[in-house]
Amino acid sequence: MAESVELPTRLGILPFRNKVLLPGAIIRIRCTSPSSVKLVEQELWQREEKGLIGILPVRDAADAATVDPVVSQGVGTDSGERSSRVQVGASDSHRLDGKNQQEVIHWHSRGVAARALHLSRGVEKPSGRVTYVVVLEGLCRFNVQELSTRGTYYTARISPLEMTKTEMEQVEQDPDFVSLSRQFKATATELISVLEQKQKTGGRTKVLLETVPVHKLADIFVASFEISFEEQLSMLDSVDLKVRLSKATELVDRHLQSIHVAEKITQKVEGQLSKSQKEFLLRQQMRAIKEELGDNDDDEDDVVGLERKMQSSGMPSNIWKHAQRELRRLKKMQPQQPGYTSSRVYLDLLADLPWQKASEEYELDLRAAKERLDSDHYGLTKVKQRIIEYLAVRKLKPDARGPVLCFVGPPGVGKTSLASSIAAALGRKFIRISLGGVKDEADIRGHRRTYIGSMPGRLIDGLKRVAVCNPVMLLDEIDKTGSDVRGDPASALLEVLDPEQNKTFNDHYLNVPFDLSKVIFVATANRVQPIPPPLLDRMEVIELPGYTPEEKLKIAMHHLIPRVLDQHGLNSEFLRIPEAMVKLVIQGYTREAGVRNLERNLAALSRAAAVRVAEQEQAVSLSKDVQSLASPLLENRLADGAELEMEVIPMGVNNHEISSTFKIASPLTVDEDMLEKVLGPPKFDDKEAAERVATPGVSVGLVWTAFGGEVQFVEATAMGGKGELHLTGQLGDVIKESAQIALTWVRARARDLNLSTAEAANLLEGRDVHIHFPAGAVPKDGPSAGVTLVTALVSLFSQRRVRADTAMTGEMTLRGLVLPVGGVKDKVLAAHRCGIKRVILPERNLKDLTEVPSAVLSGLEIILAKRMEDVLEQAFEGGCPWRQHSKL
Ligand code: ADP
Repeated sequence: MAESVELPTRLGILPFRNKVLLPGAIIRIRCTSPSSVKLVEQELWQREEKGLIGILPVRDAADAATVDPVVSQGVGTDSGERSSRVQVGASDSHRLDGKNQQEVIHWHSRGVAARALHLSRGVEKPSGRVTYVVVLEGLCRFNVQELSTRGTYYTARISPLEMTKTEMEQVEQDPDFVSLSRQFKATATELISVLEQKQKTGGRTKVLLETVPVHKLADIFVASFEISFEEQLSMLDSVDLKVRLSKATELVDRHLQSIHVAEKITQKVEGQLSKSQKEFLLRQQMRAIKEELGDNDDDEDDVVGLERKMQSSGMPSNIWKHAQRELRRLKKMQPQQPGYTSSRVYLDLLADLPWQKASEEYELDLRAAKERLDSDHYGLTKVKQRIIEYLAVRKLKPDARGPVLCFVGPPGVGKTSLASSIAAALGRKFIRISLGGVKDEADIRGHRRTYIGSMPGRLIDGLKRVAVCNPVMLLDEIDKTGSDVRGDPASALLEVLDPEQNKTFNDHYLNVPFDLSKVIFVATANRVQPIPPPLLDRMEVIELPGYTPEEKLKIAMHHLIPRVLDQHGLNSEFLRIPEAMVKLVIQGYTREAGVRNLERNLAALSRAAAVRVAEQEQAVSLSKDVQSLASPLLENRLADGAELEMEVIPMGVNNHEISSTFKIASPLTVDEDMLEKVLGPPKFDDKEAAERVATPGVSVGLVWTAFGGEVQFVEATAMGGKGELHLTGQLGDVIKESAQIALTWVRARARDLNLSTAEAANLLEGRDVHIHFPAGAVPKDGPSAGVTLVTALVSLFSQRRVRADTAMTGEMTLRGLVLPVGGVKDKVLAAHRCGIKRVILPERNLKDLTEVPSAVLSGLEIILAKRMEDVLEQAFEGGCPWRQHSKL
């Protein structure tokens, strides 16, 4: 490209319609017309040395008419004329009439000599026409002197137009040219760097700028742009270097500007897209997702729906104002904004709360209520009586501010079910709020909305769930609330239970007062002691001490078994649990105050029975009737070669008849075998006490826990040591002190009790004592183990066994007085459950025995003790034999 070219005087001409090949440009063309094929064949293909051809632009006739009215002379009229000649002016376009008068060709007078870089020949099928594909490179300009035809293509006599070397050198001295070429190079460099930035290409194009002479560069650059034919022509005509350079600079600059403008537009569009378009696109996506989920009501409808819900919620006017303020805020927010969801959830709660909605309270029928209580619960006469009284007062004075009932007792004695019976008797909805383990005031009162993840308290949440403002609300396990650094839930509960304050209960999350005065509160607790006194003061405690085995049996037969059978899809026709077996379950498998474990065991039996019944049902359904029906039918059909048909049960037959077809011959009756198989070997028996006290140093005590009364063994042993007392079994401080008192008392009375001789006055001389309370995993505390501890120690030192049928409870003073203790009723019941026959109690607990069912008392010998000696007298077989020697 850089080298100068020797031009021949005559060149074969290839016309380019409305197109210019500039020097330095490379073009790939396909020649199919007979004239161009001939031209290529003769001028390029068949030549041995590299041939050149001239590319001459040709203008369309219509364009020529408007742009250039000069009509050039005809080249010839006859297409067959071999050597017709035409004179063409230097700068004019001329007309060459090739084939006939009509087809006038407007030749441009200047062209570019080109050489073929690559040639390939092909044969078109099926016509067999030869075609060429030529890659041409423009070399230099020439002027057409004369145009003629050779066979089918044109040739021209030409003269070169490019400057000679000396001319070139002269021009290069010209300061105008120098500044022009500098300007061109600057623009071209800028264009290249812009293009490279865009296309992230390396700096290959820049090398061109350094190596190629600037006048050729001008052509190469312009050839690579898309410019109009006119502009191409004028570039071709720019033989003068200065003119060419300034034209090229102008074109390159124009191209550069157009790139800049295009870039600016894209940026602007992209910017707009990133704001509104992005939002639009996201919204479109969201809508599509919602549609896909079948949830196509959009946010706006959502807010409208919310407002409607708020309007119909019956909020008091002041709260309505507050809610509207919040709603206005919500409407101004975008759903994507951070506060939107929290605001939305809050308003939802406001709209969902039962501000006015109440279940209709019908005229209370006391007799029906009593019947209902009786049918739901066995026994509990006093409790039921108190409930009826409570209901009667409510009937006479519906807005009476009676105390809150609080059922206290071990688990499974029916506290929850009594509360729900109250709700049923009043025709109100029932909701249970569990307070067990609540230590944070926010659980009752809610978190302020400023906190992330804040929620309403359990009461407001419960009311939202129950959706009426007058339910019976059970505050379950109110004794299990504790207080710590996060506040005191009990003080919040005080407000809830105080009829004066609960009209305007303030939940921190809700932030507006809610009227709780229509709610009927009922509480449950396992024990009274942990309930804070101010809270206890607002409640009326009703104790449910637990059931005797006889009561349990009745409850099981009349309430639990029918319910459990029903829950398992059985009835007494399928499974029978005889009384004797229930008794066995009560004695051998449960030792609880309530009936929850009993119910669980009965459920286990029912499950086992359900499996058997289900299995039998299947066996029966395939048995004789059906088979005798089916087999001849099958045989007939098979004999006919027909398809099998299903047996259709006639429409008239009802379900009962169908199930009677499958009814098992006789109901399954639970026996000892089945008990053992399903429940395993019995867990408890009456012999336990006898086995435990078989060695001296063990006594039987009665304690009171959250699960009701229990029998607690105390073990003492002695070994060589320094007179120390070891205590184990997770004991609290009070019980540890009781052990110290007991040991001191025994040591002080050792002589009188005949435990040591006068010479060895110190009972602990050279030995340690270890006292252990079994069930080491259960924490124990309380003062009532005093007498039991002394008995264990006396048994240990005297090496005499205590009576296995006797259990005891009582606090002891250092001087040996027996003081009264709590939970007597539960303890006596526990002794009865465990098969103990004699119970030693502090004398001052006599009054508590009135609460113990007479059935239990009749089966027990109750011994009342005033002093420790009375206890010891009764605890050992044959009394206290050393008494005659002492002056206790
Ligand atoms: P609590 O709330 O005291 O722990 P529940 O009320 O949950 O106990 O009672 C446990 C189960 O025992 C319930 O199925 C209940 O119906 C039943 N139950 C308790 N006491 C009686 C009773 N006296 N009569 C009939 N069923 C009872």
